[in-house]
Amino acid sequence: MRPNFKSRLVNGPFGDPAVYLEFLRERRAFLFDLGDLRPLSNRELLKVSHVFVSHTHVDHFIGFDHLLRISLGRQKELVVFGPPGITDNVEGKLKGYTWNLVHNYVESLIITVIEVGATTIKTTRFRCHRRFEREELHSCSRKDNTLLEEPALRVQFTFVNHLIPILAFCFEEKYHINVKKNELERRNWPPGPWLAEFKKAIYENQSDDWIVVVRSPKPDDKILAKVPLGELRHELVTYTPGQKISYVTDMLFEPESAEKVIDMVSYSHLLYIEACFLDEDKNLAKEKYHLTAAQAGYIAGRAKVHKFILFHFSPKYQGREKELISEARESYEKHLQK
Ligand SMILES: [Zn+2]
Repeated sequence: MRPNFKSRLVNGPFGDPAVYLEFLRERRAFLFDLGDLRPLSNRELLKVSHVFVSHTHVDHFIGFDHLLRISLGRQKELVVFGPPGITDNVEGKLKGYTWNLVHNYVESLIITVIEVGATTIKTTRFRCHRRFEREELHSCSRKDNTLLEEPALRVQFTFVNHLIPILAFCFEEKYHINVKKNELERRNWPPGPWLAEFKKAIYENQSDDWIVVVRSPKPDDKILAKVPLGELRHELVTYTPGQKISYVTDMLFEPESAEKVIDMVSYSHLLYIEACFLDEDKNLAKEKYHLTAAQAGYIAGRAKVHKFILFHFSPKYQGREKELISEARESYEKHLQK
């Protein structure tokens, strides 16, 4: 299976939290948290279309300025999802600067903030050419835990307790479309942008008589065939489960929220999960509303995730990262069986 996405921690496990999720065949990327983003290139930052902020403690949000700096003067929209208070936090950041000349910009950045409340979703817009003045768009009651729903993917959240309610996220590709290479060869159809159109039509559930136009690659760009989608949706492709990538950070381990997280992240291909402390310091973890490595392993094991990556290690364990990893691994193996 050729993956459609790849993701990575922006910093090492002792660094600020941030995960960069890149779409491999589209010019866009998602960020989960905005810790220090300087390790990302400008090219990577310019691909960011959606940002999912767990909460706005400084180590999770300081990168907002860097992203803003790179995105200014571009015709693009940045959509920022976050917990209660995120709108004021974004406004506060934007109010920290002077914007008297931005109306002259030809290209204008738009920042749309979607604030997730206990029962509501509030959308606010800040447009560069309007000097980033706050424009309340709408507020409505929240029906479910879905933040973003597209034909091919969905992003969901659940609240966790970090003394304040904050967000944990799950990104899910609904299913994965694999093109049969031998079928392409048999028909003498070269791969190209037409394949992306074809897949999009399947994800968008177009009808069987929708016409797939097969083209030769540029500069030729000749039409090689026109075939109804209904003939190709089974002959040319196979379907496998999509990728699921989850991001959980800064949570107090409580049975109820742990169960909600386990439910959301279950069977993730990859789970990014904080492990601030060792189990020997579990009282400290509780005081600071963080997970221990053993608790992170418990969640990963119970959720039967394929792989997990730990981050957000407390600086007190510098040089002891192997202990955090093996404690989580042991707990994971133990709970995977149950
Ligand atoms: Zn944190």
